[in-house]
Amino acid sequence: MQNLLMDIIFPQQVCCICREPGRYRTRKPWCDKCEENLIIMQDSLPICDKCGKYMDEGEGICAECQKTPPLFDIARAVGPYDEPYRIAIKVLKFMGRRHLAVRMGRMMARVVNEEPRFWPIDLIIPVPASPGHLKQRGFNQTEELGRQISRDIRVKMDAKTLKRVKETPAQRELSREEREKNLLYAFKAEENTKIYRKHLLLVDDVYTTGSTSKECTRTLLDAGAERVCVITWATGVGF
Ligand SMILES: [Zn+2]
Ligand SMILES: [Zn+2]
Repeated sequence: MQNLLMDIIFPQQVCCICREPGRYRTRKPWCDKCEENLIIMQDSLPICDKCGKYMDEGEGICAECQKTPPLFDIARAVGPYDEPYRIAIKVLKFMGRRHLAVRMGRMMARVVNEEPRFWPIDLIIPVPASPGHLKQRGFNQTEELGRQISRDIRVKMDAKTLKRVKETPAQRELSREEREKNLLYAFKAEENTKIYRKHLLLVDDVYTTGSTSKECTRTLLDAGAERVCVITWATGVGF
């Protein structure tokens, strides 16, 4: 309803990715050419069987996962963290186009539905935003994505059990070590029956170093979860 109203009051006059003029809506926020690009890019390179990152060559498991096997079962993304995937997430996150999460969440749900290794899933957990970001943007983009995934795969979402307890500075400019140190104990999971011995699907927007997904997974497993899988909109390239 909210989206329908938004479409009527504020119809988008340009494609949110390439700015091509036209009429764009919640269900179709970008043009056909951008849609085609998004799809072509999905299978452009081999991916790591464990973390889902795009590898320059080879197959199997990436060097990083071999060195330090992640605690999550698998992580997958819709596509590589490159244009147009990068633009879509920026528009959602920084330009406040909340409704973009409908189409993006739908594409993420499809990846989950098509990969049997994600299943079973008892509950969806979005990566919590820091209170500062929440105040600035008014919404948590991972929760928006999670809500759509929840609808599409018919699994409940819980946005309260996992909390961010430490305000973390922007991660982008930091090295891997700094990121990991920064995130250590940044999250806390309530020990409750909703996650105890349950199979969880963690939702994040982007997987780059994987530090956030890994720290959230550790926190959830420590709180008693049985198993965690990760779905993101985009993932790193060239490892
Ligand atoms: Zn376009
Ligand atoms: Zn990997």
